[in-house]
Amino acid sequence: MFNNNTIQRFNETETPFYYYDMDVLRNTLDACRDASSKYGFHVHYAMKANFNPQVVKTIQSYGFGADCVSGNEVKAAIAHGFDKCKVVFAGVGKSDKEINLALDANIFCFNVESVQELEIINDLAAAKGKTAGIAIRINPNVDAHTHHFITTGLDENKFGINTWQLNDVAETLRKCANLKFLGIHFHIGSQITDMEVYRSLCIRINEMQDWFEDHGFAIKILNTGGGLGVDYYNPDTNGIANFESYFEVFSKFLRVKPGQEVHFELGRAMVAQSASLIARVLYVKNGQKKNFLILDAGMTELMRPMLYQAYHSIENLTKGSGIRDQDKSEIKYDVVGPICESTDCFRKDVELPQSHRGDLIAIRTAGAYGEVMASNYNLRDQVLSVYSG
Ligand SMILES: *Cc1c(COP(=O)(O)O)cnc(C)c1O
Repeated sequence: MFNNNTIQRFNETETPFYYYDMDVLRNTLDACRDASSKYGFHVHYAMKANFNPQVVKTIQSYGFGADCVSGNEVKAAIAHGFDKCKVVFAGVGKSDKEINLALDANIFCFNVESVQELEIINDLAAAKGKTAGIAIRINPNVDAHTHHFITTGLDENKFGINTWQLNDVAETLRKCANLKFLGIHFHIGSQITDMEVYRSLCIRINEMQDWFEDHGFAIKILNTGGGLGVDYYNPDTNGIANFESYFEVFSKFLRVKPGQEVHFELGRAMVAQSASLIARVLYVKNGQKKNFLILDAGMTELMRPMLYQAYHSIENLTKGSGIRDQDKSEIKYDVVGPICESTDCFRKDVELPQSHRGDLIAIRTAGAYGEVMASNYNLRDQVLSVYSG
């Protein structure tokens, strides 16, 4: 991933920064487009995964749609040139202001997460003399087999509408004249690598479509959500998500009727491997039982490890990119940040070659839910971005 020229460039650059490898990004997007277009599937990029303007611009240039979870994301998607007919708006807590903004922007579809929200969107659309396209987000009760912090599709989650509420949904849809029912939406969690999970999801979607059609609602859109995972352990050997198998599962098990469109909302799989967080070692602390590498980056730059115990591969670039230096004894370090919180630790017991002040450290697979979650807690500087050619 990092050749000598790149590392030389890093040596001359102020740290910490996100390094975007635009080739990795483009190769990933090519793979995603090729694997999905084979089946005529539509992919929307989940904006929340990474909002770096260069990244978003590149994704937009491929013709993907945009999946937004706030009014500002809707606004920004349109400003970035996404076709408004390919902009969808999801989220459990859409405010009136956000709904109005999306109605004014004439977006394609609201993914609706409760019966009450249906009524509110209907009222706000009526006040503008508009009709809102809507899809019902159903909680399919499929276990995503992923970390419990990022599972969303089980019963009694804050997300989505549970199946026992569908009669209410149908009744509400019948009386809401300013809603246009487009289809059904699902999103069961994130960082899912087990394709069996998606097969189960397909089976549930098939059942749900039958339910709606039996109740007199024609379904145009089947939106399966996102969640495809990436390999955080082997970013070099496994740098592109398994789009082939992923879309193949849906082509095999999802019952798609003539005229229906299948939509996907991928975030992580499209951007995660394209970036690394590059930091420097500020201090090495050798304790009695533990050694600490104190970096100039912390939870203010990359929060995932602290927020949900996420694993990221960590390399000492000064001692060699991607190689395990067998000649030098490997030492276990707790790799920590400078922030005044004891949870500000990227990982404990990381085996690294002996490291020194000034060494460059790469924290890999940081392109998704990385830069977007950066904050200026402790009045830290905004994290910088650097791009490959
Ligand atoms: C976050 C989110 C996604 C994208 O999830 P990834 O795991 O990044 O693919 C898709 N749809 C909805 C509704 C989301 O909230």
